[in-house]
Amino acid sequence: MTDLVTDPIYKTDALIAEDIDAYLDVHQHKTMLRFITCGSVDDGKSTLIGRLLYDSKMIFEDQLEALQADSKRVGTQGQEIDFALLVDGLAAEREQGITIDVAYRFFTTEKRKFIVADTPGHEQYTRNMVTGASTADLAVILIDARKGVLVQTRRHSYLAHLIGIKNIVLAINKMDLVDYDQSVYDAILKDYTAFAHSIGITSFTPIPISGFKGDNITAHSEHTPWYTGPTLMAHLETVEVDQVSDQEKPLRMAVQWVNRPNLDFRGFSGQIAAGVVRVGDAVRVLPSGKTSTVSRIVTLDGDLEQAVAGQSVTLCFADEVDCSRGDVIAASDSPPQVADQFETTIVWMADEEMLPGRAYWLKIGTQTVSATVQQPKYQINVNTMEQLAAKTLDLNAIGVANLSTDRQIVFEPYAQNRTLGGFILIDKITNATVAAGMLHFSLRRAQNVHWQATDVSREHHALMKHQKPAVLWFTGLSGAGKSTIANLVEKRLARMNRHTFLLDGDNVRHGLNKDLGFTDADRVENIRRVGEVAKLMTDAGLIVITAFISPFRSEREMVRQMMQPGEFIEVHIDTPLADAEARDVKGLYKKARSGQLKNFTGIDSPYEAPLDPEIRIDTAGMTPDEAADAIVARLIP
Ligand code: ADP
Repeated sequence: MTDLVTDPIYKTDALIAEDIDAYLDVHQHKTMLRFITCGSVDDGKSTLIGRLLYDSKMIFEDQLEALQADSKRVGTQGQEIDFALLVDGLAAEREQGITIDVAYRFFTTEKRKFIVADTPGHEQYTRNMVTGASTADLAVILIDARKGVLVQTRRHSYLAHLIGIKNIVLAINKMDLVDYDQSVYDAILKDYTAFAHSIGITSFTPIPISGFKGDNITAHSEHTPWYTGPTLMAHLETVEVDQVSDQEKPLRMAVQWVNRPNLDFRGFSGQIAAGVVRVGDAVRVLPSGKTSTVSRIVTLDGDLEQAVAGQSVTLCFADEVDCSRGDVIAASDSPPQVADQFETTIVWMADEEMLPGRAYWLKIGTQTVSATVQQPKYQINVNTMEQLAAKTLDLNAIGVANLSTDRQIVFEPYAQNRTLGGFILIDKITNATVAAGMLHFSLRRAQNVHWQATDVSREHHALMKHQKPAVLWFTGLSGAGKSTIANLVEKRLARMNRHTFLLDGDNVRHGLNKDLGFTDADRVENIRRVGEVAKLMTDAGLIVITAFISPFRSEREMVRQMMQPGEFIEVHIDTPLADAEARDVKGLYKKARSGQLKNFTGIDSPYEAPLDPEIRIDTAGMTPDEAADAIVARLIP
């Protein structure tokens, strides 16, 4: 097996000369191994990658260019959906000038094609490593034999394990600098084994190497006669990759699009994430749970009798079953789960901290839903594996938190299925990918709390009050005039016999929200709760008036989405900062300017003005009474 590698030029040339078709066939059907190298520059990572490239380039020097193009094609099609997801997300970011640096290198040997993700090793590059690892089948953890197991060894191993990489190679490097001493190797191995077990890594492959001298890279080194395991290259070439074991799992295919060129054909296209599908198989569509049988498996190269994990196909059913983009087609007798609340691990990748309660887009498989994350249960110190209390997650932080989605999603625990268990979070305003995450399990409370249908409906409530419910959502700087004008609006409506309720920022903070302060995270939660209360009040048929600074577009948008279409009326009380500050009715601006009051909107905390509010009130050009008249006229024409 290794003689092919040690004498590559001869073998390749011979094969090409003898039978070009056979050669191309071997090349076409070579499996792909994606791996990541972990270590800092000092550990010899660059030298090792250089050595692997050099050794393999000898084989296919002239074809390298073509193969690199090949590797790009694989990259864009996506061997795995989760990879495509992250790459899509990152491509969108690159357009906006934000880049997460991961260098992918391609090389190939007689046995296999390889893509190495080369990521920087320092803690501030955790997100880079996670990005690189998210597609990897194997991780090479490099150790400098002179230094042994270091903090970064632990961090890299933890991250690789977290991302679900099952094959870990412990490359104990620079053996030449410790005189190929077996006792050094054994001591490091003992150390690492104890650590690996403590974080749940059950097996790994240790190899003593010298990237610089080439020991045990492609040929067994005469300097380490005590080592009987495989060389690094032989291991990389023969280790079993996930694609094989994926086929043994139950069928999972996330529907990418519905293929309906004419009335006679209706098929569901996507990449099979796990399992095998055959014509005649009983399948179930989730989340609906409807069942049918597979009538055809269509590909560009014609129909198939069966298809396996990794293949992109179009499935046709024997029955007319509802199925659309984002749904998952699964084996009928062992379907994945459906839920809307989860425990998750989240790797935060954005410069801005995570805001618990804020709604982000969540992409999982081919599903996109709105999701909010709760305050983390804890954050993990990636150097010591300690669990720390945390209110939020900063750039590169990893934490465990509950998450809820606005509708049911089809999922599997990440440990079982990376495609249906791995997700990314996207900021709704900037479109930046802000986090990668893994679903652990669904929360039981989500399964046990059902929506109780009540007999007196929201329509009934509104009818009894002879009005159409609405939310007049006032937003603006402190002192802009929200409370003053809201109060006048409510008085006018009361005179017209309308049933109203005014929710005022200061008042709510005395009761429902008295546990919240003025950090960004608390402001998000403040508005989320007020939004939920306003929603219940509209269900009761009321016209709700809210007077909160509500500084962030995201949360105002979130509340808008909670309401029935047309019921949310955003009212921007547009007073320039200088005017509000000059009024300073509560003396708060003075306090903020002198530093006695932190996080004050307009001073040291941002205010994001509405871009397209239903009503804009310019208080410089209107008295409070005129403003109130204008708003009432708009609400009740
Ligand atoms: P907010 O609720 O937005 O913090 P308030 O209503 O408590 O603001 O305070 C606004 C102050 O500005 C009040 O004292 C109000 O009398 C004064 N004011 C002056 N001109 C106007 C105007 N055109 N519209 C609203 N308020 C005004």
